[in-house]
Amino acid sequence: MTDEPRQAICACGQLTVTVRGEPEHHHACACTKCQRASGSVMTVTAWFPKDQIVSVEGETLMWRTDGPGTEVYRCKRCGSGGYFHTGAYLPHCVGIDVGHFADPGFPAPPHIHWWPNRPHWLGKPEGIELLDGN
Ligand SMILES: [Zn+2]
Ligand SMILES: [Zn+2]
Repeated sequence: MTDEPRQAICACGQLTVTVRGEPEHHHACACTKCQRASGSVMTVTAWFPKDQIVSVEGETLMWRTDGPGTEVYRCKRCGSGGYFHTGAYLPHCVGIDVGHFADPGFPAPPHIHWWPNRPHWLGKPEGIELLDGN
């Protein structure tokens, strides 16, 4: 565990979200909505309580979606990075896609949702609970 604040930075560097402490919840998901919304075969998301946000530096644009993030704030210039709200799910938190931290040492998620929907070339990870659905 680290005491250093973590920085989620967009691809162009315009937007930096800095958070402190550990996420309240953390998981990976291979459901169809996550795949289509992200363009990646699996999302890995950490939810931080809003009072653990140290700063949001840079300009954002907001999208309303019916996907895993109901209000998604991304870099105004490059469309990546940022954070999202998930409505009724952990409403006191923001979700941050863990890839924006670009930190190979970020702790592993405790579980992966919709494991059967992962790409079939991906082998079973050790020590992570694999769930058939939500
Ligand atoms: Zn950017
Ligand atoms: Zn999902």
